[in-house]
Amino acid sequence: MKTDLHLHGLLSAPLSIYEEIAGWSLPKLPAKFESFESFNDYLFQNLILIIQSPEHVRKIIRGAFQRLIDDDVVYAEESFDVMIPDLIQVSSEAFFEILTDEKKRVSSQIEIGLEVGMSRKTPPALLFQKVREWVSSKIFSSVDLYDDERVGLAEDFVESYRFCESSGLKLKAHVGEFGSAHSVKEYVETLHLNAVQHGIRSVDDPSVMDYLAKKGTILNICPTSNVALGACPSYQTHPAKKLFDAGVKITINTDDYALFGASLEDELKHLSEMGFSENDIAQILQNGLNQRSLFP
Ligand SMILES: [Zn+2]
Repeated sequence: MKTDLHLHGLLSAPLSIYEEIAGWSLPKLPAKFESFESFNDYLFQNLILIIQSPEHVRKIIRGAFQRLIDDDVVYAEESFDVMIPDLIQVSSEAFFEILTDEKKRVSSQIEIGLEVGMSRKTPPALLFQKVREWVSSKIFSSVDLYDDERVGLAEDFVESYRFCESSGLKLKAHVGEFGSAHSVKEYVETLHLNAVQHGIRSVDDPSVMDYLAKKGTILNICPTSNVALGACPSYQTHPAKKLFDAGVKITINTDDYALFGASLEDELKHLSEMGFSENDIAQILQNGLNQRSLFP
C-alpha cells in the first residue's frame, strides 16, 4: 500500500494519453532538462496546450487515477491549477463536475484528495478570487503553491492561505526545491504550512532541519523529479537520507508522471540507491499512510 502526496493532476497520466489527444507523437523527453524554464516550456507546449475540451480533461484525469491504482496507491493528494478552466474555456462548475465524477468512479479502489493548485506566476489577487470560488465548491481538501520559487514572496499568498486555513484545508507549498533552507522555514511560518512539497534544501541548515523535525512538518519528496530537473546531480547525492537521519518526516512521491515516467515502485528502488534500509523505507511509506484522512 502506497500514497502519493505530491502530484500535479493534469501532468500525471501516461504520456501515451497526451499523444492520443494530440494525434501525434510528442518530442522525446530528455533524461535531464537543461533548466526549469526548458521543463516548463516542454510541459506547457506539449501537455497543457493540447487540452482543449472537457473530454480531454476527463481522459487525462482518468488516466492519472488509473496509473495510481496500477501503482498500488491507496491515497493520493492531486493538485489542479485554478487557471485551467479558463485556459480550456470551460466553466469552473463543469470542471468540478469532472473531478467529482472521476473521483467517485475510482472510490472503491483509491481515496483521492482533490487539491487547489496555484502558480506563483498568477497574480495574488486573482489567486485569492479563484481560491474563494474553488474552496466554496467544498470538493477540495488541500491547497498547494508551485512554479518558479524566485517569483513572489510568501507574504503575497497569505490572504489565500488564511482563507484555506479557516476553511479547514491542508496547507502545502513547493519551496526549497531550488531555493534556500531559510525560505522553507519562512514559508512554513508565514503560510502555516502542514506539509512542504520538495523542501530538500532544508538539508543546508541544521537549524531548519531541527525546526521541521520538532514541528513534525512533512516533506513530500520526489527524487526522480529532483534529478531530472537538476536540483540534485544523482540519486546517490540526494539529500533525503540526511533529512531522514535528522528526524525530518519525509514521504516519497512522483510529481509529474507524464514527464518523468517514474512510478512509486521506481521511486522505492531509488530509495535503496540513496542509502535507505528496508526499515527506513517501511517508515517512509507509513509516514504517507499516516497523512490519510487527516484532512477529510
Ligand atoms: Zn511538484
